[in-house]
Amino acid sequence: MIVILKKDATDAQTQDFVRQWKDRGYGVHISRGEEMTVLGLLGDTTKLDTETVAANPIVESVKRVTAPYKMAGRAFHPDDSVITVGEGSGAVTFGDGLVPVIAGPCSVESEEQVVEIAKAVKKSGARLLRGGAFKPRTSPYSFQGLGAEGLEFLVTAKKETGLPVVTELMDLRQLKYFDDVDLIQIGARNMQNFDLLKEMGKVKKPILLKRGMAATVKEFLMSAEYIMASGNENVILCERGIRTFDTYTRNCLDVSIVPYLKKVSHLPIIIDPSHACGLRWMVPTLAKSAVAVGCDGLIIEVHNDPEKALCDGEQSLHPTEFDELMQVLPKIAAIDGRKM
Ligand code: PEP
Ligand code: MN
Repeated sequence: MIVILKKDATDAQTQDFVRQWKDRGYGVHISRGEEMTVLGLLGDTTKLDTETVAANPIVESVKRVTAPYKMAGRAFHPDDSVITVGEGSGAVTFGDGLVPVIAGPCSVESEEQVVEIAKAVKKSGARLLRGGAFKPRTSPYSFQGLGAEGLEFLVTAKKETGLPVVTELMDLRQLKYFDDVDLIQIGARNMQNFDLLKEMGKVKKPILLKRGMAATVKEFLMSAEYIMASGNENVILCERGIRTFDTYTRNCLDVSIVPYLKKVSHLPIIIDPSHACGLRWMVPTLAKSAVAVGCDGLIIEVHNDPEKALCDGEQSLHPTEFDELMQVLPKIAAIDGRKM
């Protein structure tokens, strides 16, 4: 249930009102926007009638929410969420009209490799570095990532370039290595690992939640809801392509999810064109379409020697191709008055 407060409601009145509902066993989510304060009453509100809630003089109006994703939905939180990743001068924001680009290899393969790529993508304008250390591979015989050592190399690249870093967490036992990671990726294959999502609600870092390859938008938002309801509201969504009947690309990039999510959710949505198509030559075109459709950022695989990459080389851009793309993207962003 959504409760919109009157503009002149004081902090003390608001706190008092919130306490009353908490005492009655409801969770209360507070969203203070520029225009209004919106409270979300969480829990079983089916037996609660709206008039009872509206009876308090500080209440402007009360509405029932039908969407099951209450915290991720726009109804509870009308303003766009702005998620900050990283600290100090390297901090990057998602959701405030900028279009930050995350770039780097699928997998960290060595210190030299990740440092070289980090320097190149930074020069081209990337704002964050990606690199997998714990890799979810289809085959148990494929390269599984360098694990904790890979994270050390990633952190070295962070120190050398100042770029905040994002990397995938597959299992809670890996979290002890993530102290210097700025953004934790929960990959497509774990989007509905509900126990892991609940644990991500307890960490003090933002989460990059990738859409499962066969997940509906509702399921995607319910997974974000798991993290948020468990205490962490800093969630960035990522569309990375879904499975369809066709196989001419690795997955099918669902660009229409961007305007749809903008309508129903306040969370930033970024696009991964690399895993969406799986084809290097197509990545720049999809990246341009992603910016045109209004995404809040991009995550792109870049490798210094893609032909020899241990993972996803066929979809990784050469640093020169990435650089060319980065010259064009700001022009597309500028059509909507946005900056890279
Ligand atoms: C990745 O980012 O390298 C990755 C494995 O992504 P996804 O979970 O989207 O497949
Ligand atoms: Mn990959």
